[in-house]
Amino acid sequence: MKLDSKYFDKIRMTPRGSKPEPKVEKTCEWPGCEKPARHKAPKGRNAEGQFHAFCLQHVQEYNKSYNYFAGMGDASISDYQKASQTGHRPTWKLGENAHANAGARRGTARNVRDPLELLGRERKPAEQKLGRTLRKNELAALQTLGLDENATPDDAKAKYKLLVKRLHPDANGGSRANEDTLKAVIQAYDTLRASGFC
Ligand SMILES: [Zn+2]
Repeated sequence: MKLDSKYFDKIRMTPRGSKPEPKVEKTCEWPGCEKPARHKAPKGRNAEGQFHAFCLQHVQEYNKSYNYFAGMGDASISDYQKASQTGHRPTWKLGENAHANAGARRGTARNVRDPLELLGRERKPAEQKLGRTLRKNELAALQTLGLDENATPDDAKAKYKLLVKRLHPDANGGSRANEDTLKAVIQAYDTLRASGFC
C-alpha cells in the first residue's frame, strides 16, 4: 500500500464527532500496587518510545531511581539493586551466580520489560534477605530447622535456639540420644550464617 494514498489518510484521520473510546483504566505496573496508572515513564535504553504505566507515587519512585542510574555502569546498578533489597545496609560479596540470577530475573515482574530491573520480582522472605535465589543447601538448612523459604533471619535464630535447648543432653537427663539431630541443627545454622542469612 502506498503511504500517500488518499485511503491511508482517511483511515488515519479520526472522524470528527466520533465517540471517544470507552476509558479502560490500566493498573499501576509496580508489583503489588493496584492504583490506576495515569502516569507514563520511559522504559529506557533499547526501548525508546515504550512506556511503563504507573500511579503518581510509583512514577515518581521509578523516575527517581531511573535518574539515579543514568551514567552508572551495569555493575553499580546490580550493586544498588542488591543493596536496596536489604535496605542499603552494607552487604556481603556478590555470589558467583549473581550475574546468572540477574539474567533470570530480567523481565519477570508481570512480564513487564524492565531493562534496569527496578521492579524486581516478588521474593520469598529468605530470598529477600539474601538478595538472590536460595541455594539447595540453604533451603535444606532451613528445612533442618523446620522452616522454609518464608523464614526470616529472626525465625531461624529463634528456631535454632529452641532446638538446641530442646535437643541438648542437659535437657534430656544427660541422654545423648539426640546428638545426631543436634549436630545437624548446628550444621544447618552454620550454613545459614556462612551465606550471610543470619
Ligand atoms: Zn503504583
